[in-house]
Amino acid sequence: MSLKFRTIKEPISYKEKIRRAKDFNLFNDLKKGDPNYLDPKEFALKEIYDEYLEFKCLDCGYEETIEGDIVFELFDEEFEEYPILICPKCDDGSFVPKDIYKQIKGLKR
Ligand SMILES: [Zn+2]
Repeated sequence: MSLKFRTIKEPISYKEKIRRAKDFNLFNDLKKGDPNYLDPKEFALKEIYDEYLEFKCLDCGYEETIEGDIVFELFDEEFEEYPILICPKCDDGSFVPKDIYKQIKGLKR
């Protein structure tokens, strides 16, 4: 039996992609012609998504949507089947993806 969880993918708008490309160039001090310069219009044509995960606490039931980047930074697939975070409400380390929550609660019945 393996536990599985989904992520929510939200496409980024054209305007937002332009903004991010410009921010990137500004932040890294890149000018047109630099090898790493990100052309905003080219960048905006790419399919880019923001990834989110719905989390739920096994103890208190608190729910929150968390950015995928944050979760996957803390999560090592090689050692863990799913990410477990500290619940922001009850401070317990039982904050798991909602899909995992359902599977664990379903099994425990
Ligand atoms: Zn909790």
